[in-house]
Amino acid sequence: MTPHSPRIALVTGASRGIGRALALELARDGAHVVALARTQGALEELDDEIRAFGGEATLVPCDLADFDALDRLGAVLFERWGKLDVFVGNAGLLGPLSPLAHVDPKDWNRLMAVNVTANWRLIRSLDPLLRASGAGRVVFITSGAAHRATMKPFWGAYAISKAALEAMARTYAAEVAGEGVTVMLANPGPLRTRMRAQAMPGEDPLTLRTPEEFAKKCLALLAPEWRESARLYDFPTDRVLSFSTPV
Ligand code: NAP
Repeated sequence: MTPHSPRIALVTGASRGIGRALALELARDGAHVVALARTQGALEELDDEIRAFGGEATLVPCDLADFDALDRLGAVLFERWGKLDVFVGNAGLLGPLSPLAHVDPKDWNRLMAVNVTANWRLIRSLDPLLRASGAGRVVFITSGAAHRATMKPFWGAYAISKAALEAMARTYAAEVAGEGVTVMLANPGPLRTRMRAQAMPGEDPLTLRTPEEFAKKCLALLAPEWRESARLYDFPTDRVLSFSTPV
């Protein structure tokens, strides 16, 4: 690696919303972005936008529920760069908003596969690469739904998936402590994206903050200078919280 080689940054769910904004922000900051999502056309548009300002991207059109593909991704990244500097586990599904007793098992399994298991499979596949970075930075995008003092009815499946993601992130943070890898959670709060519109169809999106504003703030958590780990960045309050602090 030369001193001028770019940082390599994987962003899941980079085709739209928060992931797209984060991919653009990382590319503007000089990273080579590895952009993963299912929608190839949207990834190509992202690539065009990144190239237009002189940045670089590699596109990975892939369903996160294809776990073998996530294993192959780790191997391909290892062959090409031998390391990974940034991993943003952003992609997620809202899943069914219905009483727990009525959730269809197929919907439950799909939600857990994308929101939880895929992130674990990526940790499993990327762990040696992140350790090889020397300054690996991991951020998982969570939600206030995971740790509200009073749980909202009908949001159970999504809330449970994000609570599991948080436990996973904190466990991984403890496992890589001392290896130069930091693992943060980031709660965006309500942002103007397709998922939010799906959750709150009656809401005026123009009243919400944008994924671009959130991405600008998140960039600090992904920088080599960032030192904190196993904590939660809460965008609505712009605070870094420890897990004993109620949100
Ligand atoms: P979004 O606009 O719906 O974008 C979701 C992204 O995830 C898309 O790029 C989508 O790409 C990708 N994705 C979904 N399923 C996938 C799969 N099976 N394989 C690969 N990629 C997949 O949602 P968003 O609002 O940006 O949400 C991003 C994250 O923020 C999520 O984890 C969400 O829970 C969290 N969050 C959002 C809000 C909010 O207000 N927006 C609040 C709290 C937390 P393809 O469809 O192209 O695959």
